[in-house]
Amino acid sequence: MDDGLSQQPRYFLPRQSFQSLIDQLTLQGFGCVGPVVRDAAIVFDQLRSVSELPQGTRDRQEPGYYRLENSESPRWFSWANGPQALKPYLFPSREVLWEGSVDEDGSLSFKERITEPQPLAVLGVRACDLAALAIHDAHFLNGPSPDAHYARRREQLFLVAVHCSHPASTCFCVSTGDGPAPTCGYDMALAELDEGFIIDAGSERGKRILDQLPLVEVSAEQLDQAGRELDAAQKAQTRELPDGPLNRILFQNLDHPRWDDVAERCLACGNCTSVCPTCFCASENDVPSLDGLTSEHSREWSSCFTEGHSFISGQAIRPDIRTRYRQWLTHKLGSWIDQYGRSGCVGCGRCIAWCPVGIDLTEEVGAICKDASHD
Ligand code: SF4
Ligand code: SF4
Repeated sequence: MDDGLSQQPRYFLPRQSFQSLIDQLTLQGFGCVGPVVRDAAIVFDQLRSVSELPQGTRDRQEPGYYRLENSESPRWFSWANGPQALKPYLFPSREVLWEGSVDEDGSLSFKERITEPQPLAVLGVRACDLAALAIHDAHFLNGPSPDAHYARRREQLFLVAVHCSHPASTCFCVSTGDGPAPTCGYDMALAELDEGFIIDAGSERGKRILDQLPLVEVSAEQLDQAGRELDAAQKAQTRELPDGPLNRILFQNLDHPRWDDVAERCLACGNCTSVCPTCFCASENDVPSLDGLTSEHSREWSSCFTEGHSFISGQAIRPDIRTRYRQWLTHKLGSWIDQYGRSGCVGCGRCIAWCPVGIDLTEEVGAICKDASHD
């Protein structure tokens, strides 16, 4: 029977030996980041010891709501997700791309600002985060203009994925086909049980690290339990995206009254695009030094919810919140399919939890699909 777990050879890493994974990664030259509690949220930060992991921490997420709760559980990964995914590690919120300067003879010269990233291991990556990474790879690595900055960081990334056994009420990765179990794109994957981790390697690099760990044989009972937990995690998800050709439905209903309705509630704050692991809109700006002799050309995260992002040829082509929200949803769930062969949503639910007014994209698109006509 397919238990939903990887078909790679699997082993067991007892909880008391988990520090050896962090130590091995460090020994192999990786800087380690993993989940820690900071500012009342679970975020990725530098990780040196298992004592920094969020033991027994659960996250409660609803539309416009995110809170952490403590439990007696020995587990370190029994939460769904925090506001970050992998995005800030590969596509930083601000980055200088090149510098310009005026030389002594008055001529201009330009220099690319290339930094050599250190190898980075991220522990606790979720299936939705891996799916979002694959979308960013399609855009930044395999698109018509590959991005050298992204490519350098991507090469240095080692991913330790974790099966989601505790999805939040906002999660709907089952309906997008992206979770809750990581199936590819990782170096190592863990399924957490109270007494330790079922572990498998997804790459040669992962296997080399795995070979250094004090592994023991995994029992049939442990595999069964992990399979049951995964099954329960799938069944626990209640939100979903509607079936059907969303790209056609959305573009054939650009005047649906629901766009006016959501515009009444949306603050155009852009929180949803900041936390979304797939949104990659950016603006580029030049900042000259005070003496005018040098300048920095930087790229910064932008959002389709700002007026400036739609400013083209002397005017904002999306002058109101209605057209900006519509742009976000029709791109994310519609034209993204034409561009990248899949929707831009991986079902992580972050935009629902971190929206200050609790707008839920599954409800918005559901309302349009419910009474929409399409070919
Ligand atoms: S949908 Fe919510 S998070 Fe997104 S811009 Fe509107 S108010 Fe902000
Ligand atoms: S649109 Fe929302 S649910 Fe979908 S990937 Fe982005 S943040 Fe996650």
